[in-house]
Amino acid sequence: MHIAIIGAGLAGLTAAYELRGAGHTVDVYEATERIGGKLHTVAFEAGPTDMGAEAFLARRRDAVEFFTELGLSGSLVEPSGLGSLVYVDGTTRALPRGGVMGIPSSSEGVAHLVSSETAARIDAESQRPGFTWQPGGDTNVGALVRERYGGDLVDNVVSALLGGVYSCTADDLGLRATVPQLAAELDRLAAAGPVHLSTAVRNLEHARAELPTGQGPVFAAFREGYQEAYEALAEKSGANIYVDAFISGVERASGGFRLAGGNDTVYERVILAVPAPTAALLLKKVAPAAAEALKPVKLADSVVVGMRFATDEGLPDNSGVLVATGADDVRAKAFTFSSRKWPHLAERGGALVRASFGRFGDTLAVRASEDDLVDWALDDLEEITGFDGRAAGPEEIYVQRWLGGLPRYDEHHLATVAAVEKELDKVPGIAVTGAWVGGVGVPAVIAHARRAAYGGVG
Ligand SMILES: Cc1cc2nc3c(=O)[nH]c(=O)nc-3n(C[C@H](O)[C@H](O)[C@H](O)COP(=O)(O)OP(=O)(O)OC[C@H]3O[C@@H](n4cnc5c(N)ncnc54)[C@H](O)[C@@H]3O)c2cc1C
Repeated sequence: MHIAIIGAGLAGLTAAYELRGAGHTVDVYEATERIGGKLHTVAFEAGPTDMGAEAFLARRRDAVEFFTELGLSGSLVEPSGLGSLVYVDGTTRALPRGGVMGIPSSSEGVAHLVSSETAARIDAESQRPGFTWQPGGDTNVGALVRERYGGDLVDNVVSALLGGVYSCTADDLGLRATVPQLAAELDRLAAAGPVHLSTAVRNLEHARAELPTGQGPVFAAFREGYQEAYEALAEKSGANIYVDAFISGVERASGGFRLAGGNDTVYERVILAVPAPTAALLLKKVAPAAAEALKPVKLADSVVVGMRFATDEGLPDNSGVLVATGADDVRAKAFTFSSRKWPHLAERGGALVRASFGRFGDTLAVRASEDDLVDWALDDLEEITGFDGRAAGPEEIYVQRWLGGLPRYDEHHLATVAAVEKELDKVPGIAVTGAWVGGVGVPAVIAHARRAAYGGVG
């Protein structure tokens, strides 16, 4: 069978790898001059350095097993385990470890980050009347936590944490996609009537406490960066990979589909592994209803500024710092102290720091010049931590813009994806995969792409 995959990011390459050795001819078309998409390892003089994703959730054993199957288990490295900070009202404070995505069951772990009124409100939540929860339904994370606990908890903690993963504030995100375990616990509690947020979170904390210890680190990364993974996938897939190959449409042809911008081959199957707005454009002719259903999916832009300094003296002994939303004295949304967070990067000497900018809805990533971004990164780092990057001898700096970096998983997103998939079921031979379909994290992207690869091919 002749199969085309559009997009050589993690999803497209994983699908290509899954299809290897089954007698199919697989052609992968990538619009840019490089493979990997949001996985991008840059050759710093000090060593390969990730400018997109830098880690993955190692508790997802399926991902670890997949990388092991690729022969990469020896490349996986663990973080130092140092705690993270949050920058609130001009000072850095410890990020709470309990709760679920910063949503606590009591004020104990967050009292230093919220007003005394909010702390009291959190502790009294279980005494207030519960709220009605529709099992299987969804809600906006920000709206829920604001209503039950208080706005400063959302701005100072929950948005800061979720923003680090989704480049969106809690007010732009849906609960079921971004904190699924909490949505599931609310589903369970709702069988007995109105529910309380603090009860649901407490139940999850108890369940977590009962898990066996010694499960290994929560996160892992690749010693030489994500290039190890995307290069292995490309090589082991055996697929024909065409870079600088922008596909502008998918059209029906006798016996299958032809790609506008591809070669003249007629493909029996086409897998779209591109961001949602691009998928909508490509589907316009072959699956107009799916293309229409996809329209509400919006993307969040972001920027990563990677900076290497000659010395790490004065850099806090933490993995990084998140910035509360609403902080108006700095522009960055987070800093990762990569050489503190990852022992394999510390071995290189000096300091490696990643500054992140941009949340959904702000245009900073599009409009700021590289010089401004670097200046802001250095200024904000000093403002937040006291570490003077200019004095510490900047040795290498790399600015990576991620236009359309991540899809916004709002409270309608899962229904949107279900509607798109329902429409696509009516168009045999066409499948979609990627961060907007089955989740943004690396393990979720891999898991979905593997399923999408098998759909209808066997
Ligand atoms: C800054 C940043 C940090 C992140 N950090 C982490 C992290 O630490 N851990 C984690 O688990 N996840 C992280 N993620 C998320 C994760 O990296 C992504 O969700 C994942 O890599 C997306 O893979 P994908 O294949 O779905 O999409 P993409 O990587 O976007 O790949 C899509 C590919 O399609 C190509 N393409 C687009 N249009 C066309 C066209 N018309 N024709 C041909 N090709 C086309 C693109 O050029 C691209 O190469 C991060 C994301 C970003 C942006």
